[in-house]
Amino acid sequence: MNNDIERIIYSKQQIDQRVQELADELNHDYAGKKNVVVVAVLTGAIMFATDLYKKLDLYAHIDFVDVSSYQGGTSSTGSVKLLHDLKNDIAGKDVIICEDIVDTGRTLKFLTDLLKDRGANSIKICSIFDKPAGRAVDVSADYVGFDVPNEFLVGYGLDYQGLYRNLPYIGVLKPEVYKRNS
Ligand code: 5GP
Ligand code: MG
Ligand code: MG
Repeated sequence: MNNDIERIIYSKQQIDQRVQELADELNHDYAGKKNVVVVAVLTGAIMFATDLYKKLDLYAHIDFVDVSSYQGGTSSTGSVKLLHDLKNDIAGKDVIICEDIVDTGRTLKFLTDLLKDRGANSIKICSIFDKPAGRAVDVSADYVGFDVPNEFLVGYGLDYQGLYRNLPYIGVLKPEVYKRNS
Protein backbone atom coordinates (compact mmCIF):
# COMPACT_ATOMS: atom_id res chain seq x y z
CA MET A 1 0.00 0.00 0.00
CA ASN A 2 2.82 2.45 0.86
CA ASN A 3 4.20 1.57 -2.55
CA ASP A 4 1.18 3.22 -4.23
CA ILE A 5 2.16 6.66 -2.91
CA GLU A 6 3.95 9.01 -5.26
CA ARG A 7 4.65 11.81 -2.79
CA ILE A 8 4.14 12.49 0.90
CA ILE A 9 2.65 15.92 1.62
CA TYR A 10 2.78 15.82 5.43
CA SER A 11 4.50 13.13 7.46
CA LYS A 12 3.15 11.35 10.53
CA GLN A 13 5.49 13.41 12.74
CA GLN A 14 4.29 16.69 11.25
CA ILE A 15 0.65 15.66 11.66
CA ASP A 16 1.14 14.46 15.26
CA GLN A 17 2.77 17.73 16.22
CA ARG A 18 0.07 19.82 14.55
CA VAL A 19 -2.72 17.84 16.24
CA GLN A 20 -1.10 18.61 19.58
CA GLU A 21 -0.98 22.32 18.71
CA LEU A 22 -4.66 22.31 17.73
CA ALA A 23 -5.54 20.52 20.98
CA ASP A 24 -3.58 23.14 22.93
CA GLU A 25 -5.59 25.90 21.23
CA LEU A 26 -8.90 24.17 21.94
CA ASN A 27 -7.92 23.47 25.56
CA HIS A 28 -7.29 27.18 25.93
CA ASP A 29 -10.38 28.40 24.05
CA TYR A 30 -12.86 25.96 25.66
CA ALA A 31 -11.42 25.96 29.19
CA GLY A 32 -14.21 25.91 31.77
CA LYS A 33 -16.98 25.04 29.28
CA LYS A 34 -19.31 22.28 30.44
CA ASN A 35 -21.26 21.41 27.29
CA VAL A 36 -18.61 20.67 24.71
CA VAL A 37 -19.33 18.09 22.01
CA VAL A 38 -16.81 16.98 19.43
CA VAL A 39 -18.75 16.04 16.30
CA ALA A 40 -16.60 13.86 14.08
CA VAL A 41 -17.60 13.55 10.45
CA LEU A 42 -17.45 9.92 9.33
CA THR A 43 -15.53 8.29 7.91
CA GLY A 44 -12.62 10.48 6.96
CA ALA A 45 -12.29 12.34 10.25
CA ILE A 46 -11.97 9.29 12.53
CA MET A 47 -8.17 9.33 12.69
CA PHE A 48 -7.97 13.03 13.36
CA ALA A 49 -10.97 13.10 15.72
CA THR A 50 -9.69 10.30 17.96
CA ASP A 51 -6.12 11.67 17.99
CA LEU A 52 -7.40 15.13 18.86
CA TYR A 53 -9.99 13.95 21.39
CA LYS A 54 -7.34 12.07 23.38
CA LYS A 55 -5.41 15.31 23.74
CA LEU A 56 -8.34 17.42 24.95
CA ASP A 57 -8.22 18.29 28.63
CA LEU A 58 -11.93 19.15 28.54
CA TYR A 59 -15.21 17.63 29.74
CA ALA A 60 -16.23 16.86 26.17
CA HIS A 61 -18.54 14.31 24.60
CA ILE A 62 -17.83 12.78 21.22
CA ASP A 63 -20.52 12.01 18.66
CA PHE A 64 -20.48 10.98 15.02
CA VAL A 65 -22.31 12.06 11.93
CA ASP A 66 -21.99 10.72 8.41
CA VAL A 67 -22.65 12.88 5.40
CA SER A 68 -21.74 12.18 1.83
CA SER A 69 -20.98 14.41 -1.10
CA TYR A 70 -18.56 12.08 -2.84
CA GLN A 71 -19.84 8.87 -4.43
CA GLY A 72 -16.57 6.97 -4.32
CA GLY A 73 -14.86 8.95 -7.08
CA THR A 74 -12.35 11.75 -6.87
CA SER A 75 -14.56 14.82 -7.30
CA SER A 76 -17.49 16.28 -5.41
CA THR A 77 -21.01 15.75 -6.77
CA GLY A 78 -22.50 18.90 -5.26
CA SER A 79 -25.29 17.39 -3.20
CA VAL A 80 -24.89 16.46 0.45
CA LYS A 81 -26.84 13.70 2.16
CA LEU A 82 -27.17 12.85 5.85
CA LEU A 83 -26.30 9.14 6.07
CA HIS A 84 -25.99 8.72 9.84
CA ASP A 85 -27.28 11.13 12.44
CA LEU A 86 -25.85 12.11 15.81
CA LYS A 87 -26.88 10.03 18.83
CA ASN A 88 -27.32 13.04 21.09
CA ASP A 89 -29.34 16.22 21.14
CA ILE A 90 -27.12 19.13 20.21
CA ALA A 91 -29.31 21.98 21.53
CA GLY A 92 -27.37 24.30 23.84
CA LYS A 93 -24.05 22.54 23.18
CA ASP A 94 -20.72 24.04 22.21
CA VAL A 95 -19.94 22.02 19.12
CA ILE A 96 -16.51 21.46 17.65
CA ILE A 97 -16.99 19.87 14.23
CA CYS A 98 -14.00 17.73 13.50
CA GLU A 99 -13.31 17.22 9.79
CA ASP A 100 -10.62 15.59 7.67
CA ILE A 101 -10.53 18.18 4.90
CA VAL A 102 -12.48 21.18 3.67
CA ASP A 103 -12.66 21.17 -0.11
CA THR A 104 -15.73 22.75 -1.76
CA GLY A 105 -17.08 23.50 1.72
CA ARG A 106 -20.48 21.96 0.90
CA THR A 107 -20.28 19.29 3.60
CA LEU A 108 -19.53 21.80 6.32
CA LYS A 109 -22.09 24.31 5.08
CA PHE A 110 -24.72 21.57 5.24
CA LEU A 111 -23.60 20.47 8.71
CA THR A 112 -23.28 23.90 10.28
CA ASP A 113 -26.75 24.85 8.95
CA LEU A 114 -28.19 21.63 10.38
CA LEU A 115 -26.63 22.09 13.82
CA LYS A 116 -27.61 25.76 13.93
CA ASP A 117 -31.22 24.75 13.17
CA ARG A 118 -31.04 22.29 16.07
CA GLY A 119 -30.07 25.06 18.46
CA ALA A 120 -26.38 24.50 19.12
CA ASN A 121 -25.01 27.23 21.40
CA SER A 122 -21.85 27.61 19.33
CA ILE A 123 -20.33 25.84 16.34
CA LYS A 124 -16.67 25.88 15.37
CA ILE A 125 -14.99 23.90 12.64
CA CYS A 126 -11.70 22.17 13.25
CA SER A 127 -10.22 20.51 10.17
CA ILE A 128 -6.83 18.88 9.95
CA PHE A 129 -6.55 19.77 6.24
CA ASP A 130 -7.88 22.63 4.16
CA LYS A 131 -7.88 22.98 0.37
CA PRO A 132 -8.65 26.69 -0.04
CA ALA A 133 -8.46 26.45 -3.85
CA GLY A 134 -11.36 23.95 -3.91
CA ARG A 135 -13.93 26.22 -2.29
CA ALA A 136 -17.36 26.51 -3.98
CA VAL A 137 -19.36 27.87 -1.03
CA ASP A 138 -18.47 30.43 1.60
CA VAL A 139 -17.27 28.35 4.56
CA SER A 140 -14.06 28.58 6.50
CA ALA A 141 -12.65 26.45 9.28
CA ASP A 142 -11.92 28.11 12.60
CA TYR A 143 -9.03 25.77 13.35
CA VAL A 144 -6.93 24.35 10.51
CA GLY A 145 -4.04 21.94 10.69
CA PHE A 146 -2.50 22.43 7.26
CA ASP A 147 -3.38 24.02 3.95
CA VAL A 148 -2.90 21.48 1.18
CA PRO A 149 -2.64 21.74 -2.61
CA ASN A 150 -5.70 21.27 -4.82
CA GLU A 151 -4.97 17.64 -5.62
CA PHE A 152 -6.67 14.39 -4.66
CA LEU A 153 -5.02 13.25 -1.43
CA VAL A 154 -5.13 10.04 0.59
CA GLY A 155 -4.10 8.96 4.06
CA TYR A 156 -4.77 9.96 7.66
CA GLY A 157 -8.46 9.17 7.12
CA LEU A 158 -8.76 10.19 3.48
CA ASP A 159 -9.62 7.33 1.14
CA TYR A 160 -9.56 6.33 -2.47
CA GLN A 161 -12.34 3.80 -3.03
CA GLY A 162 -12.36 2.99 0.68
CA LEU A 163 -8.63 2.31 0.88
CA TYR A 164 -5.55 4.17 2.19
CA ARG A 165 -7.33 5.72 5.20
CA ASN A 166 -4.92 3.87 7.47
CA LEU A 167 -1.78 5.53 6.10
CA PRO A 168 -0.34 7.59 8.98
CA TYR A 169 0.65 10.41 6.62
CA ILE A 170 -1.10 12.31 3.81
CA GLY A 171 0.06 11.94 0.24
CA VAL A 172 -0.67 11.70 -3.46
CA LEU A 173 -1.29 8.41 -5.24
CA LYS A 174 0.74 7.32 -8.24
CA PRO A 175 -1.23 7.88 -11.49
CA GLU A 176 -1.11 4.16 -12.30
CA VAL A 177 -3.28 3.41 -9.26
CA TYR A 178 -6.19 5.23 -10.95
CA LYS A 179 -5.53 3.50 -14.27
CA ARG A 180 -5.48 0.14 -12.51
CA ASN A 181 -8.98 0.84 -11.14
CA SER A 182 -10.66 2.46 -14.12
P1 5GP B 1 -16.44 19.21 0.53
O1 5GP B 1 -17.88 19.03 0.86
O2 5GP B 1 -15.76 20.28 1.32
O3 5GP B 1 -16.22 19.36 -0.95
O4 5GP B 1 -15.72 17.86 0.75
C1 5GP B 1 -15.60 17.34 1.94
C2 5GP B 1 -15.27 15.88 1.87
O5 5GP B 1 -14.81 15.42 0.61
C3 5GP B 1 -14.13 15.65 2.82
O6 5GP B 1 -14.60 15.51 4.13
C4 5GP B 1 -13.51 14.41 2.27
O7 5GP B 1 -14.14 13.28 2.79
C5 5GP B 1 -13.75 14.51 0.76
N1 5GP B 1 -12.53 15.05 0.12
C6 5GP B 1 -12.26 16.32 -0.24
N2 5GP B 1 -11.02 16.43 -0.77
C7 5GP B 1 -10.49 15.18 -0.74
C8 5GP B 1 -9.22 14.62 -1.14
O8 5GP B 1 -8.30 15.27 -1.62
N3 5GP B 1 -9.07 13.29 -0.95
C9 5GP B 1 -10.04 12.50 -0.42
N4 5GP B 1 -9.77 11.22 -0.28
N5 5GP B 1 -11.24 12.99 -0.03
C10 5GP B 1 -11.46 14.31 -0.19
MG1 MG C 1 -15.12 13.89 5.08
MG1 MG D 1 -14.11 9.74 0.64
